[in-house]
Amino acid sequence: MTRILVVNSGSSSIKYQVVEAATGERLASGLVERIGEPLGRIVHRGADGSEVSRELPVPDHTAGFAEMVRAFEETGTPVDELGISALGHRIVQGGGDFIEPTLLDDVVADRIHELGELAPLHNPGHYQAIVAARALFPDLPHVAVFDTAFHQTMPESAYRYAIDPAVASVHGIRRYGFHGISHQVVSRRAAEFLGRPLESLKQIVLHLGNGASACAIDGGRSVDTSMGLTPLAGLVMGTRSGDIDPGALLHLLRAGYSVDELDKLLNQRSGLLGFAGTNDFRDVRAAADAGDADARLALAVYVHRIRHYIGAYLVDLDGADTIVFTAGVGENNAAVRAEVCADLEWFGVRIDPDRNEAPSREARLISTDDSRIAVLVVPTDEEAEIARQAWELVAG
Ligand code: AMP
Repeated sequence: MTRILVVNSGSSSIKYQVVEAATGERLASGLVERIGEPLGRIVHRGADGSEVSRELPVPDHTAGFAEMVRAFEETGTPVDELGISALGHRIVQGGGDFIEPTLLDDVVADRIHELGELAPLHNPGHYQAIVAARALFPDLPHVAVFDTAFHQTMPESAYRYAIDPAVASVHGIRRYGFHGISHQVVSRRAAEFLGRPLESLKQIVLHLGNGASACAIDGGRSVDTSMGLTPLAGLVMGTRSGDIDPGALLHLLRAGYSVDELDKLLNQRSGLLGFAGTNDFRDVRAAADAGDADARLALAVYVHRIRHYIGAYLVDLDGADTIVFTAGVGENNAAVRAEVCADLEWFGVRIDPDRNEAPSREARLISTDDSRIAVLVVPTDEEAEIARQAWELVAG
């Protein structure tokens, strides 16, 4: 048995799952949220299927983990009887330092804390969870699995920005890329689905969820990706703008916007929400279908941006064997897949409408048999991938 407790923490939340590393099977899961607020909440689903849900103050991450332990006890399997072999911590920003899963010790934990400068919304929360979890499970190995690590194979021409190298170096300004855990598991599962060696495939993976990014993958290695220094760059997202001329930000600063206002505008009030008033793709689609002009424009910009990245990556990769859709929107919305792939026959892309619209939770082909590029839908599973990578490291 190779059970991993996968921890995905934020500044005010801890998401956790117990995952069988060999199979990806879930044994228990839960979410502690509103940590540090007057009233927090835990929702837990135990190994026996029963649920615990309650509201109470959760002052910090240590208290959050204590609530998790209590919930495991109440649902019949105390956490120390689950046979957990290691913890896998999802870390959003690993900077240029971490190119693979890494065993957590004080030095690694401190570096993750320092990298909070580049990921102020993510790494500080990860660090608090690491400190609390290491104190709670001092005898188990803790593994940090980084969202940036998969993209550390990008060539310099892809990850460098054309600014003063001294400024870039002092401030760590370069493309790091994110969603790496998802791009990695999806590209591997796509190769398995096609029955071809990962090393032989050129893939374009489109992770379209509330956050969204595209990735060009050559032989299983990321060679370019749409997110940059931060997860704000690239595709249009639920609430994030994606690419925007940096000159627009200078213009707004001069027009009197504060840095915090700009941060909020770009990260929380843009994207689909900015155009259409909602960041839930289903609602945007429904509004567009009902004739709402703002929602139609939102979708048009959303699709236009994705197609630009496909074009760029077809050139980067010198053609592609497969285009893969994943995450909430990519897995579930046939219309957006059809729009993204429309009129690409010249490039070798032909969607089969029946295959595209057939609902399924499995990996599947949605292009025609004679489409030169195989278009796939492959469900992502970041927790299973974190468990797999943590176990691989611990098992040596
Ligand atoms: P994720 O971040 O991967 O959880 O994806 C969240 C996004 O997926 C949200 O915009 C949802 O509206 C969208 N989504 C989830 N289920 C569906 C569905 N059945 N059809 C269309 N979009 C969906």
